[in-house]
Amino acid sequence: MSTSYFDEGALVSVLTTQPLDRLLDYRAPEGGCFAGAFVEVPLGPRKVLGVVWGPGQGGYDLAKVRSVIRVLDAAPMREEMQTFLGRVADYTLTPMPAMLRLATRSPGLGDPPSMRKVYRLGHAAPDRMTDARGRVLEVLRDYGGLAFTQKELCDMAGVTSSVVKGLVKQGAVLEEDSPRDTPYPRLDPDLPSVTLTEEQAAGAEQLRAAVATGRYGTTMLRGVTGSGKTEVYLEAVAECLRQGRQALVLLPEIALTSEFLTRVEKRFGAKPAEWHSGVTMTERRRCWRMVGEGGAQLVVGARSALFLPYRDLGLVVVDEEHDTSYKQEDGVLYNARDMAVLRASICGAQVVLASATPSLETWVNAEAGKYARLELTARFGEAVMPEMRAIDMRNEDLPSGRWISPTLARAVNARIEKGEQALLFLNRRGYAPITLCRACGHQIGCDQCDARMVEHRFLKRLVCHQCGETKPMPTVCPSCEAEDRLAPVGPGVERLAEEAAAQFPEARIAVLSSDLFGSARAMKAQIEEIARGGADIVIGTQIVAKGHNFPLLTLVGVIDADLGLQGSDLRAAERTFQLMRQVAGRAGRAERPGTALLQTFQPEHPVIRAILAGDEEGFWRAEADERRAAGVPPFGRMAGIVLSSPDVQEVFDVAGELARRDAPLRRIGAQVFGPAPAPIARIRGRHRVRLLVKAEKAAPLQEALAVWSAQLKLPANLRLSIDIDPQSF
Ligand code: ADP
Ligand code: ZN
Repeated sequence: MSTSYFDEGALVSVLTTQPLDRLLDYRAPEGGCFAGAFVEVPLGPRKVLGVVWGPGQGGYDLAKVRSVIRVLDAAPMREEMQTFLGRVADYTLTPMPAMLRLATRSPGLGDPPSMRKVYRLGHAAPDRMTDARGRVLEVLRDYGGLAFTQKELCDMAGVTSSVVKGLVKQGAVLEEDSPRDTPYPRLDPDLPSVTLTEEQAAGAEQLRAAVATGRYGTTMLRGVTGSGKTEVYLEAVAECLRQGRQALVLLPEIALTSEFLTRVEKRFGAKPAEWHSGVTMTERRRCWRMVGEGGAQLVVGARSALFLPYRDLGLVVVDEEHDTSYKQEDGVLYNARDMAVLRASICGAQVVLASATPSLETWVNAEAGKYARLELTARFGEAVMPEMRAIDMRNEDLPSGRWISPTLARAVNARIEKGEQALLFLNRRGYAPITLCRACGHQIGCDQCDARMVEHRFLKRLVCHQCGETKPMPTVCPSCEAEDRLAPVGPGVERLAEEAAAQFPEARIAVLSSDLFGSARAMKAQIEEIARGGADIVIGTQIVAKGHNFPLLTLVGVIDADLGLQGSDLRAAERTFQLMRQVAGRAGRAERPGTALLQTFQPEHPVIRAILAGDEEGFWRAEADERRAAGVPPFGRMAGIVLSSPDVQEVFDVAGELARRDAPLRRIGAQVFGPAPAPIARIRGRHRVRLLVKAEKAAPLQEALAVWSAQLKLPANLRLSIDIDPQSF
């Protein structure tokens, strides 16, 4: 498709967001339209959003072709975006309408630019406080200085517009006219920055030179936590801004964004555009538009920021590139890290994959010379990687129901005495992972899935971590009806906090677990408080492993280093290695040397040994050899086909039938394994069965999968989804 122009009345084909398997032909509207234009078209009795994809195909009664209703006020989709969407669709076997929905997730696309009323927090207190008024003020306070439209505010606070109007009258809420969609403030790449160390400066120069080529390339930026990776890639961003191109920084976790925005503001003098699920609709619309018009130079966001309509994207940074949350597990199943590389290769941009513990995929690509390598070996300042030791739990005298070994407790006490902080890491949310009936042995499970329900004492409920189902904590056993015999088994962070409070009665204890906070803001406040020294012991789940700075923290105690090693997942070793290294990296970031103690029952396990020895290259080589021998990613290709249905018999029957008709796969030398229960075997009442397909690296897997999976006519309530490069195999 070219950037051609279609005169009024010319036949054009339009891709819509409707689930149709083909493009529809229309006539160009009055005044004509460009290829790529966002348009509104009639479809039956409705009007739907679409994009002019190219010339019409014809071949039917031309008299019946309807006209495009209007061209929307948004920059046309660029050719490279069309190419990108097409390639992602082919790669992930996603229908194009679903891709278009992903790329147009912007509210108000098509509204004329105009002034609108927005509301922000005022100074006066309302004369009379009601619940509804309180909620409105709380929302406004929670989001700091942000302004919302009336609808957003009412939706978020769950109030009617009259409540907002009442507060405006009293000056507790301010009503303002705001132009829609204003450009973001200019970022200045040439403000003075920190003085880089020699190693950092050399790294920054390498990235600057790469960006200056204006061509595609990928660099693996590897360095321990605190080595200055962020400082270094911000120099690549600076160069990209100097070139007048746009940059995108992807972060794995929304909670990290605000800290990062502050850093950008310090470095470039203003905040960049922000894109993730926590951003208001108004702001998302602004971001979407400004990215397209060039009024946003830098976007910081979650994986879906890859699908924004950049005018001229010159750099994509994927921070913490190994993080599993880059894999979208719902809807379009894509891995943002891989799609970032694809997008950059289409538009001639550089990619920086930054991590302290790169994914095996990235490591192998760097080894093979496909990616450039950039290593930061020293931590900034005097800090060094913490000393790592195992606590052999077989030798510790620990009563049942307790998890902090005497050795670890002594180490914690020693830190507290020095006014330093200790982190106790346990990657399990809630109070206890199992609730067991002492009378009959029944374990309380989720009614919707096969998962166990996890007790959350803080919420006073049982929660299913798989599907989110919750129910009140029962007092009688649902199976034998015995009273008061239900008991928690095993630790979660809440229970660990209880134990720590008993063992260290003088210590101030803070618990960091995503479910304990009502908002990202509340969590950020807690994190800042800890960084200032507002806690002696921090107890946390996975969220503490991600990039926060705690200068006083000098001890990390991993409560159960063996946790991730169980299960049959081939990636378990890689995950455990990464997580333990990341967590250990929390200790000793400033001038104080740190120690990491890993409680384990199997200190001789190869993964635990590699962690303790800090032998990353050795670990990756051994892991790569194993995967190469097994022919699994990144050395072979895999796809998961998940079939789901409320009817367990039916879903196994269909999966079995599909497995038998494997000729299209055998033709390319691929094998089918299964059917077997999917990693999540039942969710929201649907039984899930998985077939795994394994193929040689070069095999045309997608085509074969498409032919193979389309062989059967599926019963109405059975769903099939294809997951290319599944996370677990
Ligand atoms: P990473 O991204 O590798 O974890 P950061 O870039 O976040 O490392 O650096 C860790 C901390 O050290 C940050 O607070 C950063 O500002 C600081 N830092 C790193 N390099 C320098 C430097 N050359 N001069 C001053 N501060 C630095
Ligand atoms: Zn459940």
